[in-house]
Amino acid sequence: MSQHTTARCISLIVPCFNEEHSLDAFFQRLETIIDELHNYRFEIICVDDGSRDNTLERLCQHAKRNTNIIVLELSRNFGKEAALTAGLDAATGDAVIPIDADLQHPPETIIPMIQQWEQGSDVVLAKRKSRTTDHPLQKFVTQYFYKLHNRISDCEIPRDVGDFRLMDRTVVAALKTLPERRRFMKGLFAWVGFRQSTVEFEVAPRRSGASSFNTRRLWGLAIEGITSFSTAPLSVWTYTGLSVALLSLIYGSWIVIKTLAFGIDVPGYASLLVAVLFLGGIQLMGIGVLGEYIGRIYSESKQRPIYIVRQRYSQASEQAHSASDTNSPKHKEFL
Ligand code: UDP
Ligand code: MG
Repeated sequence: MSQHTTARCISLIVPCFNEEHSLDAFFQRLETIIDELHNYRFEIICVDDGSRDNTLERLCQHAKRNTNIIVLELSRNFGKEAALTAGLDAATGDAVIPIDADLQHPPETIIPMIQQWEQGSDVVLAKRKSRTTDHPLQKFVTQYFYKLHNRISDCEIPRDVGDFRLMDRTVVAALKTLPERRRFMKGLFAWVGFRQSTVEFEVAPRRSGASSFNTRRLWGLAIEGITSFSTAPLSVWTYTGLSVALLSLIYGSWIVIKTLAFGIDVPGYASLLVAVLFLGGIQLMGIGVLGEYIGRIYSESKQRPIYIVRQRYSQASEQAHSASDTNSPKHKEFL
């Protein structure tokens, strides 16, 4: 870690999607913690991920009041992973901490995180003590998702650890070198490695509103996680095919022997139909899995940007705006 004569800077990244009712309480609690940590400078990068409520206006009001707040407005809803990527790209701090705006990640945890970072950890993971806020079914599925993922992937995702973590700037620089467009952040974080340590926290219930990760979105995220880090679902078809072929060979030989020995038996309509349908199903599943990967190759090959920033709002850019370039679309006045 580099030596600094001035205070070290911590960047907080706050992805916000329809969070207008959480923000006041969030900033209030966060700012109490920041006041305690007066040896550090803070930059709070709030990414408005195409919210449909007044989140952007609220964020801008807070940015007017607090010079540390920078607001990035994305041009539409790109999803949390893209919003985090936007925040990481904009962060300039010596350490970066992504934190949810709904107060499910208690800002108090930032204090032990920074302590561990100062003691030499490059990454400080915030691990959930329990999953009390989760639905039992979600708990069950998540557990098996991690088991399956860690078994078949080339890098292990730590359990009960989300995006809430501290990363040294070297780790962020490493993350930025990963070129993929479809970003499963938990997997990417794990892939880059570095010296890690853990602090524990208790997940709070959502401050207001509802989680935007419904079953369909979580399923999508799980598929993304598996396909981004493992080719096992592809190679499994080679072995399925081999096993089915071997079984058919054995069954075929048995029919030939039986016919030679005992003559022609009943037509076997039912077994024929079952075999055809079964094989049809297996083949379609195989094609489906191929499709998942081809779809990903397709979207990667288009090389579209991960997100688009419509506007950046901060007091610094406002000053820059009044001082110089008036036409720059990046320097807009506050709403
Ligand atoms: N979020 C976002 N874009 C989205 C969905 C969510 O930026 O498309 C943000 C959201 O505002 C919150 C964080 O990501 O700060 C976590 O989202 P949420 O609370 O809905 O998910 P959960 O806590 O259930 O995982
Ligand atoms: Mg949440």
